[in-house]
Amino acid sequence: MTRDEARALDAADPLAALKERFVLPPGVLYLDGNSLGAMPAAAPAASARAVAEEWGTGLVRSWNDAGWIDAPSRLGDRVATLIGAAPGEVVVADTTSVNLHKLLAAAVTAGERRVILTEPGNFPTDLYVAQGVAATIPGVSVRTAPRDAVPAAIDEDVAVVMLTHVHYQSAATFDLRAVTAAAQAEGALMLWDLSHSTGAVPVDLNAAGADLAVGCGYKYLNGGPGAPAFLFVAARHQARLRSPLSGWMGHAAPFDFVDDYAPAAGIRRWLAGTPPVLGMAALAAGLATFDGVNLAALFAKGRALSTLFVAEVTARCPQVRLASPADPAQRGSHVSFAHPDAYPVMAALIDRGVIGDFRAPDLLRFGFTPLYLGFEDVWRAADVLADVLASGVWDDPRYRRRAAVT
Ligand SMILES: *Cc1c(COP(=O)(O)O)cnc(C)c1O
Repeated sequence: MTRDEARALDAADPLAALKERFVLPPGVLYLDGNSLGAMPAAAPAASARAVAEEWGTGLVRSWNDAGWIDAPSRLGDRVATLIGAAPGEVVVADTTSVNLHKLLAAAVTAGERRVILTEPGNFPTDLYVAQGVAATIPGVSVRTAPRDAVPAAIDEDVAVVMLTHVHYQSAATFDLRAVTAAAQAEGALMLWDLSHSTGAVPVDLNAAGADLAVGCGYKYLNGGPGAPAFLFVAARHQARLRSPLSGWMGHAAPFDFVDDYAPAAGIRRWLAGTPPVLGMAALAAGLATFDGVNLAALFAKGRALSTLFVAEVTARCPQVRLASPADPAQRGSHVSFAHPDAYPVMAALIDRGVIGDFRAPDLLRFGFTPLYLGFEDVWRAADVLADVLASGVWDDPRYRRRAAVT
């Protein structure tokens, strides 16, 4: 494709104006919204209002007057519309890691089964949290099976199958419906991590019959660094499963101040402590960037953007190898390319305003967020990558110094 052809696609794109819902620095092509979403244009004012008016003026009255106390369910219901869940099935709380802990511990203590089944190479925190649950609840163990062998590894000992829908490195997807059905056929619960899916690819939890899910607020939901995460519990399981973090905000009547814990009836039992109100204000601005957007069209555009990038890079960059499924139907909204010197290559790219990220040991990872990226942006990013690789400018000691966060 030529740059003019890419520009023509933008001119004909009914979603192109959504870019104005964000502020990005001039000269930056941001291909890392799968790691930290861009800042919504409304976020600074929303955050300032939460601080100066709701906190500064409203003070403690704002728990009621500004609706702080209801924010976890209110935002949860908004997230639900993006993942095929019903109102009352999603709550915004804590971090993805903490939410994984709550749901895994609940799943392995709900019946007799004690095995958590997952895949090797899953996102590290998912594995670490599972290992922590196994280390602290007697009898629990973690079993892993390569992704294609997961369905066959589900047996009568497995309490819960925990998988990430879109893999954080390769972007390879699991079939939500088929794997959920395989878990349930063996009597196990299915727990999906939707961190790299929500807001980027179609997810219909209830159509898939899913049991449990978690996901991230600061990636494609644009909720800001460290934004609160979310969790989903299908309505049919809510009365039966119990959070191991039985804090007061998950109590049936927190302001009765009684000594004994009694879980709230619905999704709010998964709250532990006081919600992070300021983080929720920014997350609300992030979620509002999806207001009125045709999700099917948005996700189709995301796929078209990553397809364009893969085609250009494959044609122009013989130095790299596609490390994601070539079939766009088999991947999420990011793609990875392998290069033996991926770290300095990415550092040189970032130096030229094309921001992706490096994932050890050898991946260049690029995310495609259709809310704020256009076809010409993607074309230019591929053009800069081709130039960086062909010129060898990346081969400079200053690009090899590793930062703490990659
Ligand atoms: C980003 C991500 C997380 C993040 O977990 P935190 O607790 O928010 O740090 C978890 N799981 C997956 C699959 C992710 O991609």
